[in-house]
Amino acid sequence: MSDTYDVVVLGAGPAGENLADRAHAAGLSVVIVERELVGGECSYWACMPSKALLRPVSAVHDAERVEGARQAVSGDLDVAAVLARRDEFASHWNDDGQVSWLSGAGVDLVRGHGRLAGVRQVTVTLPDGGARSLTARHAVAVCTGSRAAIPPVPGLADARPWTSREATSAKRAPGRLIVVGGGVVGVEMATAWQALGSKVTLVARRTLLTSIEPFAGEIVAESLVSAGVEVRTGVSVTAVHRQADGEVTVRLEGGEELRGDEVLMAVGREPNTHDIGLETIGLAPGSWLAVSDTCVVDQVDEGWLYAVGDVNHRALLTHQGKYQARVAGDAIGAQAKGEPLATEPWGRHSATADHAAVPQVIFSDPEVAAVGLTAEQARREGREVKVVDYELGDVAGAGLYADGYRGSARMVVDTGRGHLVGATFVGPGVGEMLHAATIAVVGEVPIERLWHAVPSYPTISEIWLRFLEEYGC
Ligand SMILES: Cc1cc2nc3c(=O)[nH]c(=O)nc-3n(C[C@H](O)[C@H](O)[C@H](O)COP(=O)(O)OP(=O)(O)OC[C@H]3O[C@@H](n4cnc5c(N)ncnc54)[C@H](O)[C@@H]3O)c2cc1C
Repeated sequence: MSDTYDVVVLGAGPAGENLADRAHAAGLSVVIVERELVGGECSYWACMPSKALLRPVSAVHDAERVEGARQAVSGDLDVAAVLARRDEFASHWNDDGQVSWLSGAGVDLVRGHGRLAGVRQVTVTLPDGGARSLTARHAVAVCTGSRAAIPPVPGLADARPWTSREATSAKRAPGRLIVVGGGVVGVEMATAWQALGSKVTLVARRTLLTSIEPFAGEIVAESLVSAGVEVRTGVSVTAVHRQADGEVTVRLEGGEELRGDEVLMAVGREPNTHDIGLETIGLAPGSWLAVSDTCVVDQVDEGWLYAVGDVNHRALLTHQGKYQARVAGDAIGAQAKGEPLATEPWGRHSATADHAAVPQVIFSDPEVAAVGLTAEQARREGREVKVVDYELGDVAGAGLYADGYRGSARMVVDTGRGHLVGATFVGPGVGEMLHAATIAVVGEVPIERLWHAVPSYPTISEIWLRFLEEYGC
């Protein structure tokens, strides 16, 4: 016997929760299936605990960069207190709060591992080993997220490497931590654990933060080095071995060996689609699920299958997954009522921002904040661009924010269309400045009109004035 709902959601991470909420608000009955903790990776092993580890680091550095305040900061970080605060932000890995939020939102929860079992059918293996069948009248949404990729490096799997999960939930700082990967997770966790007492070595195959403007990775690498991190770029790991005494050996190409107490693999993500029954509807298990702008899965007839969040590989960020969830949840609601969908670019049922307006803050020290296209990406798209670079330290507000403020900023303007297509800021406190740039990119605000958006004096946002002066306004 199968329980029937309008919508069945697989996975209660931020994407699944938001889609369920939105579809229910549209008047549909919704059930969500979760095999682990309601709230997903973001709440317990990603955004929340990682930022809770990093915030004390930047708070102390912010104070240390201001004469007068610097004298008030003495001693090291209180590691036990930082970890205890992190535990609070991870809700002690208990999902009671989010379960009651779901129930308040009117969404039913089934705990267990869900698998597609044909068109609009889902089977759940329950924690007690039993099974429950669910049928969707309108849509099934796969929101199963992603997990750390463990590459086939000889010896690695047996060496019990840390993934982002251990790096965000560890109860103590390892003496020596080898971080493999120069992307966001590698950089953020190297920043945090070095400050919390580990001796960190960061190994990256190329440079750091390669998806952002190159100057960002350069500044962050210099800053990691000055914090005591050994940064090794342009090298690959060829083998990993954990010895009987617990020490880990990481061999680099060329034969050199690094020794540590833990090795964190931060070399990318893979989709949680290996065991969700994709084969029952003709899709390949283990693949990312390609979707339309409404998040309907390609290659599935009748548009009943949605994939939202990390699993569709569009933008592996919580805020983008939640945006897609709002788009898809509203679309499912409209379709159920027989209403037409607004799927034109920037329409209500189109996740258009995923293409060229994704904002991202990297909570390294200094912070990196970027939205839209890099200069190279814009040129590769065939756009005529004008790039304006500016040293953030030359902005009056930045000098007040930190003595000897070090930072840099770039705006990329599509000169053919006369508006901003990308912006990148690197420096203390820049994360909170990003949304202004996001609005300019998404709103395609004409450069001449931006001139009239006057930034407050003396804030770091006066970078906008400097940008526009340099541009020629
Ligand atoms: C260390 C780290 C830090 C990050 N920091 C940030 C940040 O600061 N800001 C930001 O925007 N993004 C950040 N991210 C990315 C962010 O965590 C993800 O983009 C986000 O969690 C994706 O949400 P999701 O709902 O798609 O998937 P997830 O959060 O992965 O949730 C998927 C859920 O589905 C469940 N599930 C999977 N398979 C099944 C199944 N078969 N049956 C039932 N349930 C299933 C899982 O248990 C999980 O609860 C970070 C990622 C990492 C690794």
